[in-house]
Amino acid sequence: MANEKVKCLIIGSGPAGYTAAIYTGMASIAPVLYEGIQPGGQLTITTEVENFPGYPNGVTGTQLTDDLRTQALKFGADIRPGIATAADLSRSPYKITIDGEKIIEADTVIIATGATAKYLGLEDEKKYAGMGVSACATCDGFFYRKKTVAVVGGGDTACEEALYLSRLAAKVYLVVRKPHLRVSKIMRTRVTESKNIEILFEHNVTGLFGDNGVEGVHLVKRQGEADEERYNLAIDGFFLAIGHQPNSKIFKSYLETDETGYILTENGTPRTKIPGVFAAGDVADPHYRQAVTAVGSGCKAAIEAERYLTSLSVSPHH
Ligand code: NDP
Repeated sequence: MANEKVKCLIIGSGPAGYTAAIYTGMASIAPVLYEGIQPGGQLTITTEVENFPGYPNGVTGTQLTDDLRTQALKFGADIRPGIATAADLSRSPYKITIDGEKIIEADTVIIATGATAKYLGLEDEKKYAGMGVSACATCDGFFYRKKTVAVVGGGDTACEEALYLSRLAAKVYLVVRKPHLRVSKIMRTRVTESKNIEILFEHNVTGLFGDNGVEGVHLVKRQGEADEERYNLAIDGFFLAIGHQPNSKIFKSYLETDETGYILTENGTPRTKIPGVFAAGDVADPHYRQAVTAVGSGCKAAIEAERYLTSLSVSPHH
């Protein structure tokens, strides 16, 4: 396999990866960034981003990604298509395999591979992608003012998304497959006391319908039971909140993760337990998952990488 040696390898092209590239580029570290499975990351599957500071009129997810990319290129980042398929973090320089065919040896690695929202796996979720189907209430809730929406899931994320949406939408259905929520008492109280949230326990979604985007959802109550009931419900928006999967698989045998797979870092920093290996953005963040917080941790990871390279006496400059 062909080997190449770099000072700083960034894996992932969401806001965390691009910000790390901007900062390391400005520090003349000549970062190499691999874009990964979904160039641009989760921002590219949302529509309008209304909450990114500095864009008072909003910005599309793709435009924001393009802007970050352009800024990273301006400072000399070497941005390449390619997916990290294996990792050897047992000793420095760390070895990352790209597309199963090329090994990059790196003094520092910034893991910014993100997390992927889980979907139910229905054909209709793809059919109506960006046309009423969303996996992020804080990104897209704004478009459903005074409308009717459904949120699928019975955990903390689903409850938080339902509560967030209840402040915008006229009506929120929370579709839960079990007969109970899997949340703390305080969260349950908040949701059940909300006037415009209606919980549909023991309900599963079998499909969506609508000519111009989502106009309704096909539901089945007590699926497989003698009293099974199938019916349709009119909605304008359909939100998935059944969990996220952090993209940390290839690093798991070297780094500590929580039970879901989020990479554990030193409190408030992107430092992993391996010197020179940093985790930024959603892959290490089960709590906030915002473009803005990803940008912040990408910046921190870049500063850490520069300091680490200096401490190695590998000149961070050309
Ligand atoms: P969870 O794994 O906690 O919950 C996922 C929910 O989605 C469950 O109710 C699950 O149902 C349901 N679900 C999963 N797959 C399907 C499916 N195919 N069809 C229908 N329903 C499905 O994920 P969350 O994202 O809610 O939370 C992740 C972690 O983050 C948790 O530890 C949570 O506590 C934490 N968190 C905490 C917050 C807070 O404290 N404010 C906010 C957000 C997250 P079932 O119960 O049947 O498995």
